[in-house]
Amino acid sequence: MAFLSDMLSRVKPSPTVAVTALARSLKAQGRDIIGLGAGEPDFDTPDNIKAAAIRAIEAGETKYTAPDGIPELKSAIAEKFRRDNGLDYDASQIMVSTGGKQVLYNALMATLNPGDEVIIPAPYWVSYPDMVKMAGGTPVIVPAGIETGFRITAEALEAAITERTKWFIFNSPSNPTGAGYGRDALLALTAVLERHPHVHVMSDDMYEHIAYAPFAFCTPAEVAPSLYDRTLTVNGVSKAYAMTGWRIGYAGGPEELIAAMKKVQSQSTTNPCSISQWAAVEALTGPQAYLSTACAAFERRRDMVVEMLNAAAGLTCPVPDGAFYVYPDISGCLGKTTPAGTHIHDDQDFCTALLEETGVAAVFGEAFGLSPNFRVSYAAADDQLREACTRIQAFCAGLS
Ligand code: GLU
Repeated sequence: MAFLSDMLSRVKPSPTVAVTALARSLKAQGRDIIGLGAGEPDFDTPDNIKAAAIRAIEAGETKYTAPDGIPELKSAIAEKFRRDNGLDYDASQIMVSTGGKQVLYNALMATLNPGDEVIIPAPYWVSYPDMVKMAGGTPVIVPAGIETGFRITAEALEAAITERTKWFIFNSPSNPTGAGYGRDALLALTAVLERHPHVHVMSDDMYEHIAYAPFAFCTPAEVAPSLYDRTLTVNGVSKAYAMTGWRIGYAGGPEELIAAMKKVQSQSTTNPCSISQWAAVEALTGPQAYLSTACAAFERRRDMVVEMLNAAAGLTCPVPDGAFYVYPDISGCLGKTTPAGTHIHDDQDFCTALLEETGVAAVFGEAFGLSPNFRVSYAAADDQLREACTRIQAFCAGLS
């Protein structure tokens, strides 16, 4: 009898996490590595947030909490949803988890039965399809390539819906492309969803605050109130407030779904870290100036990276609306050979050779379901980014 579960054989380890770990270990061995694999702000968590965590420790807030989060954080989240998104959720409709990742996982575990389908536009964040499989469902991948601005069209969404569709996973601005859906683009999708009342919407709004004008962030339950009762609006403090390691994600949604997610969490991690929850209260209710400072820095970096990568031979780099990723196409590099003799058949070869021969870590496009591309996270210091892009340019120029 096999020791490992059948389910696990259908799932791969997270490539974003793996590339980040590899870059870290090569660096520890003394290699000159620039890690642009992880989607993680390079900024330090703001001091007021750290101070709130220290106060929580000193006040003895170090015990189990309610599984769905401390009341103070739930009320800060309710206020955030009202303030930023015009959405009203009461405490029974809000859930706090160990990162946005656990929110999504809880929701899928709480709702999927074998055969249930989940529509995921590609390119997608690496963990969506595998989480769906872990929960016993079937990912239905819908291509949304550069021809449509990396956005799923209303026609493609309509065509993918069947009677088994349980969820549509929506992510704007997107990881890995940075493509955002403005109000009109989103309304075109919500009009389709309104015609299919059995389909629920999982909106991953993790990059809400990293949005560059003229793009303006909006979320499905906000633009289409008729979808409110079947939308899970997911967010977190990780990307917005440079708090990736604190692991706090949250969601607002229908009471029945939130109660089911709470049940899953009560049998897995019990509650998110008590200290991190107090830090998140400060993040959401304290001074918000950090958000615009960070967004301006990311926008400046975006402009530099897009310009430098478009100047690299064989790369085409679209301009993202938000998040801190670019997703260049590498078609012009395929079939070529590096000076060290590696033949580039696909984007995985490209990223492996890029890391080995230049020390730049990025994630290959196949992991996100659309090739031939690679994802560069520009949440890194300006000088590191400039150096990385210079190395990428030299790498591409050296292909023959
Ligand atoms: N969401 C980030 C990324 O895409 C963090 C790593 C992960 O959990 O995938 O890089």
